[in-house]
Amino acid sequence: MKYDIIIIGGGAAGFFAAINAAELDPNAKILILERGKEVLTKVRISGGGRCNVTHAEFTPSELIKKYPRGEKELRGPFHSFMTGDTIAWFEERGIELKIEEDGRMFPVSDSSETIIDCFLSETQRLGIEILKNHSVQNITSENEQWLINTNNGDFSAEKLLVATGSNPKIWKLLEGLGHQMETAVPSLFTFNIKDERIKELPGVATFASVKIPEINMEDEGPLLITHWGLSGPAILKLSAWGARELNELSYKFKIQVNWLAHQNSEEILEQLLELKLKHAKQQLTKYAQFDLPKRLWKSLVLASGISETDIWADINKKQLVTLSEQLTKSEFSVDGKSTFKEEFVTAGGIKLNEVNFKTFESKLQKNLYFAGEVLNIDAITGGFNFQNAWTGGYLAAKAMTSLD
Ligand SMILES: Cc1cc2nc3c(=O)[nH]c(=O)nc-3n(C[C@H](O)[C@H](O)[C@H](O)COP(=O)(O)OP(=O)(O)OC[C@H]3O[C@@H](n4cnc5c(N)ncnc54)[C@H](O)[C@@H]3O)c2cc1C
Repeated sequence: MKYDIIIIGGGAAGFFAAINAAELDPNAKILILERGKEVLTKVRISGGGRCNVTHAEFTPSELIKKYPRGEKELRGPFHSFMTGDTIAWFEERGIELKIEEDGRMFPVSDSSETIIDCFLSETQRLGIEILKNHSVQNITSENEQWLINTNNGDFSAEKLLVATGSNPKIWKLLEGLGHQMETAVPSLFTFNIKDERIKELPGVATFASVKIPEINMEDEGPLLITHWGLSGPAILKLSAWGARELNELSYKFKIQVNWLAHQNSEEILEQLLELKLKHAKQQLTKYAQFDLPKRLWKSLVLASGISETDIWADINKKQLVTLSEQLTKSEFSVDGKSTFKEEFVTAGGIKLNEVNFKTFESKLQKNLYFAGEVLNIDAITGGFNFQNAWTGGYLAAKAMTSLD
């Protein structure tokens, strides 16, 4: 069966590309091939079932900073299609998005089904064919046509978009077409830590800066203590930026936490000496200082060799030095990782220097396009991974339907 455009992968990028291509060229015969028995499965479970569609960040130079892999390459594409365009695109189809306090954007319905319904009705309206249970097994080309073999029949098309997400199974086929793949490693995970200082503190959250000296990486943001260790945006960002290096360390490394984010141990020591004079008769553990959560303050005080009943006047300089260090550079040993709210992305995929980011076309094979997570692009959490799928899907659609 012959098509103008075949899209492999019925996920976010594949649907967005198909719909835009059909709108740009209503005569194009378009097919989506999906190996699963359902399409858009990740959209359905995304954002805890609410689908974090995009992020309220409207400056391309700021937006690209959310992509540990793809930062440089997405700069141009975001000037053509980015968050504002996504919002308008859904609005034109009757879907309003709302902004949460942290900038994440969700459908007002708070349901990913709204996005799925929109995609399914648009594909139907535009006459896009969707074949489920069609797993692509082979890709070859002959006489400027792509030949696609699936477990359920063969198809051909002039233009081919691969939007298979982070499933490495299709990578072998792409390698057969000359492409090189960056190996897959997980991104967006939390750090497993067993440590007396945080053992009794699950649920405690504060703003902190975090550093992994071994790979020379640091970040800051809300930090959350969990039953397993440390989580929250500060940790997730480190896990994304350090995805490859932390994998090489087999997720065993040391992390330094500055619970006071922007102050160093010398500055804190001076303030502790002042507090000692000011509160001489007061028990240290009784009143938290520096706006720290009370239970955290107490735990760090105890970890500095100070007892629960000690008053400020009893504390010697050495103990205060230790406390200043606990407050600004607590060291923890990480041993392993956990998944964050079941959400994860994979770092890895098509090497970015093999793709033309004006069109998302392969530089090695004419009429072969890529969009979404199949590329070696991924972002921190917040709606940025879908934005990559929308941007790539849109620009590939535009290129596949242009008359040149
Ligand atoms: C639990 C969870 C929650 C998430 N929540 C969010 C969120 O709220 N916001 C956000 O921005 N990101 C989120 N993400 C990340 C986001 O889902 C992905 O970045 C995004 O789905 C990538 O889109 P894609 O189209 O490239 O790939 P996918 O959505 O993975 O789609 C690829 C499709 O290709 C199909 N396929 C693969 N191989 C073949 C083959 N050989 N033949 C035919 N079909 C094939 C797959 O079955 C799949 O349907 C979340 C991820 C997870 C796991």
